[in-house]
Amino acid sequence: MKEIPYLSIVILIKNNAQTLASVVSDIRRELGRFGRPYDIILVDDGSIDDSEIVGRRLASRASHIKYHRIDSGGGYGKAVRTGMALADGSWVLCTAADGSLDPRDIKELLKYTQSYDLVSGCRTVRQVTGYDKFQRWFRHVLLGRRFGFVLQDARCAMMLLKREIVQEIPLGCDGANIGYELLYRSIRAGFRVIETPIWAREPIVPESLIQCIRVIWALGKTSPPIRKIQFKRRKRMGRIRRYLRRQWCLVSDRPWEASLDISSRCDMQCISCGVWTEPIRNERDASFWVGILDDLYRLGVRRILLIGAEPLMREDIGRILRAISIRGMAASIFTNGFRLSLRAVELLEAGLDRLVLSLDGPESGVHDGLRGGGGVFEVALEGMRKLRNEAMIRNVPLPEIVFHTTVSVANVHAIPEMIQFAKEEKVALTLQAVCQFPKAVVEQSRYEGEMIASRQYMITDVDLLMSKEQIAGLKRKIGRNSLIRHNLSSRVLLSLTEDHLIVGKVPVIPCGHVHHTVSVNPQGDVYPCGMLSNYHYWSLSKRSIGDVWNGDRRKHFVRHLKRDSFPACDYCCHYLNNLTPGQVLRVIIGLPLK
Ligand code: SF4
Ligand code: SF4
Repeated sequence: MKEIPYLSIVILIKNNAQTLASVVSDIRRELGRFGRPYDIILVDDGSIDDSEIVGRRLASRASHIKYHRIDSGGGYGKAVRTGMALADGSWVLCTAADGSLDPRDIKELLKYTQSYDLVSGCRTVRQVTGYDKFQRWFRHVLLGRRFGFVLQDARCAMMLLKREIVQEIPLGCDGANIGYELLYRSIRAGFRVIETPIWAREPIVPESLIQCIRVIWALGKTSPPIRKIQFKRRKRMGRIRRYLRRQWCLVSDRPWEASLDISSRCDMQCISCGVWTEPIRNERDASFWVGILDDLYRLGVRRILLIGAEPLMREDIGRILRAISIRGMAASIFTNGFRLSLRAVELLEAGLDRLVLSLDGPESGVHDGLRGGGGVFEVALEGMRKLRNEAMIRNVPLPEIVFHTTVSVANVHAIPEMIQFAKEEKVALTLQAVCQFPKAVVEQSRYEGEMIASRQYMITDVDLLMSKEQIAGLKRKIGRNSLIRHNLSSRVLLSLTEDHLIVGKVPVIPCGHVHHTVSVNPQGDVYPCGMLSNYHYWSLSKRSIGDVWNGDRRKHFVRHLKRDSFPACDYCCHYLNNLTPGQVLRVIIGLPLK
């Protein structure tokens, strides 16, 4: 069996026939004392001198040296990406074949492997004039703000990085700016990065200011800025933008959000939910979820919601989250919080943007009773506090935390206290009326002869719908509350009429959800929405997301929905995302919804 090397050295060649053999020999001499297995990958970026002859000769003499030629000469970035893709080692080191760097510095870089994930060399920078000094300072200010990290020499060809970075970070740059891209995305993804001084044959002249601005501008177009910058303002602008974006999806039929059910398991036994009584079904592994992210991004998706049953049941949640952050998409998690303490550090390090904590009441008496377990309220709160503390200790941005309460007959009396509790914890609160429908609705919601509505929302032994008096009392008590008035989602509850709430109906006119959200279940099937989860467009084992989204099966379904909605749609649990501009206006003014 082939031994996996500890270190893969990628040597980039561009017309370096004169120096290549001596560079390889110096590296082999250095690593001879290293005592761990390594291999060398020579990547020739379409050289027109004798580099190919030298490279092939070197490869034919030693089994741990490979030669690969890019015939068309794709550029420095493409050569780096090719070399990294060919590398098998746990660590990958990139260097140049032009002899400008000293192989003895490899040892310097290897010293940091215990504490860092990426070690970049930093060549001596020549500062000739005052202007050089000024532009270096200005560059640092810009890059420091942009990257959250002051980079001295992002274009240094000597860089050592973990294989995990190579596998998880998608790189697109073909040119010399690949160093910037790699550093930026690694930092954004929460990898630990350090620069260390290395020897260079000649001190380099700092890059020009214009060049720097161009690089930053280009990176900014493909990746969002780090969240620390103007976080609050972006959040407020985001609500309006989010709504307009969803409306645009209705016209363009291009999704913007994805709801991924990454787990079919749950650690609670809620009285209103049958998930925990069902046999555990297979779940797709992390590679599947990471694998579909690029397709989702290409389709236009920029926000990912990880749901379950309970997403924190997955031990590889950090890997999935990190892959989302790396691609510049916003990541949210909807959780019952039972495993939050366990996963808090992982979530922070992976760059979680938003955590929605499902709480049924402001104290354990209400919450634990509905969740079917003692002490779960305290455990969830402890998890939230740990998340906050760890964010402070590690000096990383805290994800936005939101409490989500489903209002039902079982907790309606505790809603005013829940609002007070959210205020004290300085956390936003969204209230949503419980969604339940009679059994007949399941039987009548048919498409192509099949029953497609989820039985999860069917009224069984436990009827959770509120009475007329309870609804009137709730509206009276919370109607003037400032927290509710400033939260559009919760205000929808006030605009739903008694007639709606008593039977659990909501006035959904056109369905926007099926246009703006891609929903994927734990087995990898794409389906329309949570209410109609028994219908699948296609399995992603058979088709790509793009093909499913633009395929006939989905298009027919959406057309059918436009003409004739299903009985289950009258009880839609996604109604908050389905409001028309007219309905939003009514909610803002405080008029009943029609
Ligand atoms: S409602 Fe949520 S937390 Fe409760 S059992 Fe169902 S999936 Fe789990
Ligand atoms: S249940 Fe709601 S989200 Fe699903 S198709 Fe009907 S209106 Fe759309």
